[in-house]
Amino acid sequence: MIYDVIIIGAGVTGCCIARTLSKYDLNICVLEKEAEIASGATKANSGVVHAGYAAQREYTKRHLCIKGNKLYSQAAEELNFPFKRIGSFVVALEDEQIKGLEEERKKGAEDGIPGLELILDKKRIHEMEPNLTEDVVGVLHASTAGLVSPYELTFALADNAATNGVKFFRNQEVVKIKHQDYIFTVRTYQGEFQTRNLINAAGLYASRISRMLGLDYFRLMPRKGEYILFDRNAIQLNKILFPTPTKISKGILVCPTLHGNTFAGPNAQNLNDPEDLSTTTAGLKEILEGGRKLVPNLPLRSAIRNFAGLRAVPDTYDFIIDNTDIYGFINVAGILSPGLTATFAIADKIVEFLELLGVQLTLKEDYNPNRPKPERFKDFKRQELDKKIQEDPRWGRIICRCETIPEKEIVDAIHAPVGSTTVDGIKFRCRPGMGRCQGGFCRPRVIEILSRELNIPYEDITKRGEDTNILVGKTKDLALKNLSRGVDTD
Ligand SMILES: Cc1cc2nc3c(=O)[nH]c(=O)nc-3n(C[C@H](O)[C@H](O)[C@H](O)COP(=O)(O)OP(=O)(O)OC[C@H]3O[C@@H](n4cnc5c(N)ncnc54)[C@H](O)[C@@H]3O)c2cc1C
Repeated sequence: MIYDVIIIGAGVTGCCIARTLSKYDLNICVLEKEAEIASGATKANSGVVHAGYAAQREYTKRHLCIKGNKLYSQAAEELNFPFKRIGSFVVALEDEQIKGLEEERKKGAEDGIPGLELILDKKRIHEMEPNLTEDVVGVLHASTAGLVSPYELTFALADNAATNGVKFFRNQEVVKIKHQDYIFTVRTYQGEFQTRNLINAAGLYASRISRMLGLDYFRLMPRKGEYILFDRNAIQLNKILFPTPTKISKGILVCPTLHGNTFAGPNAQNLNDPEDLSTTTAGLKEILEGGRKLVPNLPLRSAIRNFAGLRAVPDTYDFIIDNTDIYGFINVAGILSPGLTATFAIADKIVEFLELLGVQLTLKEDYNPNRPKPERFKDFKRQELDKKIQEDPRWGRIICRCETIPEKEIVDAIHAPVGSTTVDGIKFRCRPGMGRCQGGFCRPRVIEILSRELNIPYEDITKRGEDTNILVGKTKDLALKNLSRGVDTD
């Protein structure tokens, strides 16, 4: 079969494009190299839906961010992903920084960003955010800034796209592409796919994909950002808190999450290795020091996890969204921050590109823009819960105690349209392992459920795909094997 569109990469960019195109009568598939979608930059970022004042005016990313922010409200209603406009502060700690904030406010307002306000009244600032340092001299408040759960957004996009006919193929790393007679032949380790139009949304690997077609016109540099995540209730912030930015980064922010935690980060470290997600003592020290400039009482003993994400920083420092010289090949590369915010606007741009290419975009009669809200134990009132448990006892079997996740939510995550098949996939879809014990209690039980539902042996269940096996076999079998080899197993 020849697809109308193949998208390489199932991060937020690829999945949002897939969902946007799924309203048209087109045969579409998404190829993802990892076992789960949302495994790249989309998995580890700040989850801030920016207001849009931060990037310079000459950059496309500024304009797509402003547009993208506005598109979030409707998308959240249709797709039922967690999203809240809680507003952000850019915090000035010195009088000289105020002038810069006022300039940002003025330019932002001229560019159509609503709700920007420079606040110099310290009493009012502390009423709005009591945790903020006493050293504050003023803030730029952006009321349209919000929080989104980036992977939950991506699962929602992919599930809705799949419901509308898009095919998702995981564990399919694209290794070679041929273009002949207006058809792209895309080779992966597992097979071959053909398409008339090819969209490259491969994150940090997008320059490699572009070079497979001889287009070598941009470079991407991995820039690592480390984070510290604090336990729920360790501290309760009302606002997303940014320092006044530096040239290369928005700086270390302190931010609440939609699940009641707080995090500090990210720092910014340029790397050569696109897989280096290590966290370092120096990095964590830098984050803590940076975070405490804004929130002095950040409680280190409530830290439950450190993690890192990798930005794909292009040499132009701007998004590369190109209808390239190769007819039908579109690059969507260098989608650094604010790519998450801009995602719906980026997807709309791809529709414009396909129109320019003459692709027939006929609306499907049965297109359904809505994704039902996943049912959550914590959202039910006591009486509803009793009824649920009576109807299906799996609602009453709590697998993750820290996050109160019952078996039913895990089973639903496995059988979603683009369902999860790994322990990490389940963790990101419905949160077992996200709590204080970080999976110490629930992981074996999650493995058991995955094994049962997918009908595959325990030892084939992985943490996040190939070469990340958790179990090597049953203790009894190992003991027998060792016995037959004459090894003492005591
Ligand atoms: C530390 C950090 C903080 C950030 N904070 C924010 C923020 O607060 N707000 C905001 O708006 N943005 C933020 N961003 C930016 C945002 O995370 C990115 O713009 C967005 O996630 C990019 O998504 P993507 O789909 O383009 O890339 P990715 O999520 O990296 O997806 C690319 C996908 O392509 C797959 N792939 C790669 N090569 C191949 C291949 N050969 N074959 C098949 N598949 C392949 C990968 O496995 C991956 O799943 C931040 C980024 C980082 C790293």
